[in-house]
Amino acid sequence: MATLEIHDLHVSVEAENGPTEILRGVDLTLKQGETHAIMGPNGSGKSTLAYSLAGHPKYTITGGTVTLDGEDVLEMSVDERARAGLFLAMQYPVEVPGVSVSNFLRTAATAIRGEAPKLRTWVKEVKGAMERLNIDPAFAERNVNEGFSGGEKKRHEILQLELLRPKIAILDETDSGLDVDALRVVSEGVNRVRETGEVGTLLITHYTRILRYIKPDHVHVFAAGRIAESGGPELADKLEEEGYEAYVKGGQAA
Ligand code: ADP
Ligand code: MG
Ligand code: MG
Repeated sequence: MATLEIHDLHVSVEAENGPTEILRGVDLTLKQGETHAIMGPNGSGKSTLAYSLAGHPKYTITGGTVTLDGEDVLEMSVDERARAGLFLAMQYPVEVPGVSVSNFLRTAATAIRGEAPKLRTWVKEVKGAMERLNIDPAFAERNVNEGFSGGEKKRHEILQLELLRPKIAILDETDSGLDVDALRVVSEGVNRVRETGEVGTLLITHYTRILRYIKPDHVHVFAAGRIAESGGPELADKLEEEGYEAYVKGGQAA
């Protein structure tokens, strides 16, 4: 079983007054087959963690390690991370002019599986996955992310997750901007992938409502650039009732 290990991760961004430390020592172990939720107030650094794992050039790693089965993830290019089995939704370009969803998915699947999926079975696979996610068949011929609505982007994310079957998937705010119906469809997709037992999922979110549909095995509260508390699903219930106030001092993340 693949294991992603984040140890004492420190990350800075270049701000107006010079480098600013955003992540201040993140420790997390995520195994294939497990579902973890990271929850925290706005500005606590959740997306910074996701972008750092994705290898976004704006984020400078100033300390700590990230390994996937002992292999140094921080040394890998974005492509190498994907081939190693890491799925990071935000690593994909915002728009890919001239590349249809269908071609994009097949290229990504080819890179990850090491060989091109047979066209006939692939078309079936894509069709089935799209049906389960209530995605209009015409969507496959549209250019990636071009004019996608918020909901379409999220469904496309889960479509990739279903078809690419990574070892570790990091989903940042997959729930934001979704109405209740879309939230249910997206959550069902995550749960289907989860039931295979072959994907470890890190669900990053500000809101507790997605956790009514996806029950995490572990919940971590993120505040001021680190994990402030870890627990089981009961911690999500506590956050739903009490919010993040206990983790935030004087209006600023503690
Ligand atoms: P969250 O996802 O928890 O809302 P973010 O990771 O987006 O938090 O942001 C954490 C902090 O880092 C914020 O204060 C934000 O302004 C700052 N930050 C994040 N990315 C950048 C960037 N590229 N340049 C400057 N500041 C950034
Ligand atoms: Mg935010
Ligand atoms: Mg964020």
